[in-house]
Amino acid sequence: MKKCLISTCLVGLCTRYDGQSKPNERCLKYLGNFIYIPVCPEQLGGLPTPRPAAELSGGDGMDVLTGFASVLTRDGKDVTKEFLAGAEAVLKIARDQNIRLALLKARSPSCGVKRLGVTAALLETNGIKLVEF
Ligand code: SF4
Repeated sequence: MKKCLISTCLVGLCTRYDGQSKPNERCLKYLGNFIYIPVCPEQLGGLPTPRPAAELSGGDGMDVLTGFASVLTRDGKDVTKEFLAGAEAVLKIARDQNIRLALLKARSPSCGVKRLGVTAALLETNGIKLVEF
């Protein structure tokens, strides 16, 4: 069976900034074809749960990777370092496990794909296919 990464909140773990989860039925059906490894980049980067909501500032996740944008909490604290550390930790897991696919939570400054989050950007630049739920 192939392996994939998945955002922890999509499988029902309460890792979101507000301590909630976002289980997604369509995604859970998709998972039947995979051995999956749940990852939460914001927790892996050292942020607590619950935590202040954060947003990309000045660009998207790719811009954060290149130093042209940052991630700020709503009260203005810079958490770019933690977001980058989390993205690197997720990439390391993908490499260690030889994983080429990640199922990621939409509209997240870490995991979002259409509006590219920091982790999604790092995975994409390393050739990992992304699917957003
Ligand atoms: Fe879910 Fe990703 Fe946010 Fe963690 S960082 S709670 S996995 S959307």
